[in-house]
Amino acid sequence: MATLKEIIDLMESPKKEDIELITSAYEFSENAHKDQKRYSGEPYFVHVSETAKILAEIKMCPKTIAAGLLHDTLEDAGITEKELEEKFGKEILFLVKGVTKIGKLRYRGAERHIESLKKLFVAISQDIRVIIIKLADRLHNMRTLQYVPKHKQFRIASETLKIYAPIAYRLGINRLNRELEDLSFCYVSPKECEEIRKLVKEKTKDIAVRLEKFNKSLKKACAKEGMTDIKTSFRIKNLYSTYRKWLRKEKDVDKIYDIYAIRVYVKNIADCYKVLGIIHGVWRPLPGRIKDYIAVPKTNGYRSIHTTVFSGDGGIVEVQIRTEEMHRQAEYGIASHMSYRLKTEGKKNDAMAWFKNLLPENDKETFNSLGEISKGSVPDWIKQLADSQTSAKDGEEFMENLHTDFFENRVFLFTPKGDVVDLPIDSSPVDFAYAIHSDIGNHMFGAKVNNKLVSLDTQLKNGDIVEILTKKNAKPSTKWIDFAKTTMAKRHIKLSLQKNS
Ligand code: MN
Repeated sequence: MATLKEIIDLMESPKKEDIELITSAYEFSENAHKDQKRYSGEPYFVHVSETAKILAEIKMCPKTIAAGLLHDTLEDAGITEKELEEKFGKEILFLVKGVTKIGKLRYRGAERHIESLKKLFVAISQDIRVIIIKLADRLHNMRTLQYVPKHKQFRIASETLKIYAPIAYRLGINRLNRELEDLSFCYVSPKECEEIRKLVKEKTKDIAVRLEKFNKSLKKACAKEGMTDIKTSFRIKNLYSTYRKWLRKEKDVDKIYDIYAIRVYVKNIADCYKVLGIIHGVWRPLPGRIKDYIAVPKTNGYRSIHTTVFSGDGGIVEVQIRTEEMHRQAEYGIASHMSYRLKTEGKKNDAMAWFKNLLPENDKETFNSLGEISKGSVPDWIKQLADSQTSAKDGEEFMENLHTDFFENRVFLFTPKGDVVDLPIDSSPVDFAYAIHSDIGNHMFGAKVNNKLVSLDTQLKNGDIVEILTKKNAKPSTKWIDFAKTTMAKRHIKLSLQKNS
């Protein structure tokens, strides 16, 4: 369980009222969940406090962390919306409701649904913070997936791999992306995961000694040119992206040059190029392996210079050069812009600029190397998302616009099981019924929306959960044609009326 102190200590210079907010959300949630247990037998509150801790780690704003603490109170702990609003205000209620809504999304294994599920995710969330809370929630659920019944593990893990991890990647939150990928990979493809684990272990056997030697020479070479205070670190590629690269390289692990790398952190962009020059002056670079993601950032906003050099001991080493700020952005993606935005006025356009960077024109090759996620082209929803941001004037508007123009003409609805149906705006339960199956439409006699009985001409709204009531001898009525929106529904109603007359 994450303690209150742990969470507060992770926050960046919190104000008095921030600490009060987190404290009261912490206590409220602990009390609301006090009678619930997880599959592991631990108190349920462990899950929500750990979710909040992840949000604090990626430096989200206090309200987002508070909403993280409260994210399961509406659904599982019997707290009402009114209670939450009275105690924590409209904004936090909005975030918690958003998380509850997208929590109903289910991926049921059909490849063709992946893109629409991702769109739906964004459309329903209405606010990027809702998505980030959901990602943190899922990350903790993945960390504890071993306690979940076997038959559920595979579904949850594939959903994470196909939907959640790519969204984290698109938002540039690599820290969440890497862990979500590796945790789900070993449930979705346990054999392949083990194979890659072995290959990487073999390949990096005595790497620590070699890299340490290289690291020392590198620092010495830089010091000689007057750069005495550069920082370095080692990084090992995560298992799932190693696996994807391994598939692309004809399953030849020796063709993957960046399983491990040295990272160099410097103060500014000019120093990045200076270090690149120093390195190439000492070690010979491999042709075609210099990648300048500072001049041409990756589609998700990633910036760094990569080069691969002969390390002089018969091996090769990839070096990644970046500023501290680039590193922060690479780890936290849009989250880094959002917390930054809250602290420094006048930097409001950061998040928008970041979205513009998502556009792919300038970096086709990197983009294609993303493999199965990208299928060679940027998903339309990201383009639309980025386009819809370019007209926004400031940060506030950015948050609002993230949703408004995006899915103007469609509504996204759920079956009670969480399957997604998207229909034209102003569609009715009749359209919904026929979208599922003509037999359901032809035998419907009523409908429930969000658990309440409604008339059949009700206009459905984004996120509604629609349940169709049927019985054997029910028949369509001519009136339905007047309010049905989809041609499919109209056609089936007419057919059925002709048959019955
Ligand atoms: Mn949860």
